Amino acid sequence: MSLKERIELVNTRIRQACIRSGRQPEEINIVAVTKYVSAEATEAVLDQGLTHIGENRLQVAGPKWEQLGSRGTWHFIGHLQTNKVKDVIGKFEYIHSLDRLSLARELEKKAAAENTFIKAFVQVNISGEETKHGLAPDEVPGFLEEIGQLSHLKVIGLMTMAPFEGDPEDTRPIFRGLRELRDQLNDKSLTDEPMMHLSMGMSNDFEVAVEEGATWLRLGTLLVGKEEEN
Ligand SMILES: *Cc1c(COP(=O)(O)O)cnc(C)c1O
Repeated sequence: MSLKERIELVNTRIRQACIRSGRQPEEINIVAVTKYVSAEATEAVLDQGLTHIGENRLQVAGPKWEQLGSRGTWHFIGHLQTNKVKDVIGKFEYIHSLDRLSLARELEKKAAAENTFIKAFVQVNISGEETKHGLAPDEVPGFLEEIGQLSHLKVIGLMTMAPFEGDPEDTRPIFRGLRELRDQLNDKSLTDEPMMHLSMGMSNDFEVAVEEGATWLRLGTLLVGKEEEN
């Protein structure tokens, strides 16, 4: 299947999930996760009109950004070491993996110094798996209060990763949990503006995520493909 065909197929499946759940396809944004592919393949994604590009490692993303940076909007989706924040600010408009106070403070500091700001999703470990990054759900209210003063860091929503399941239906409680957490937090008005966004759903489980309220899907393998040599 060509890239164009894969994009069409994904869009069709998103539309069908929207119909099943009474949502509008316009509410759903796609981050094309290009971490498994070359700069050339990333450029082909941009050529198809997908402008939101997701990368999880700066080593891989850096050269691509040098070549293609101005053509897209870049999302950092991986675990970020505090000492690498300087390489993210000014290049990436979004970070999906805000998971600790020290990282929030460093993002604020570097963004302020560059006179810019960064949009962030707070990563939450809904599944409770030890191998997953992210705050425990009950840590999020306190975290939002602590970072509320940081004016160069704009929290726009929550992000989670579901465990890989043979049957994607099994991920539903995770995605539903993230939506319910967002709604509870918004009821408490812990952020200046309500958090609108949910970054959830990957190649294996994006339709369930759409049905449960995702507004940003992060799609790699199914959409962009995977180059074995990477
Ligand atoms: C790799 C990755 C994705 C995309 O995964 P696929 O299953 O290939 O779609 C999404 N989110 C994060 C955080 C990732 O690291």
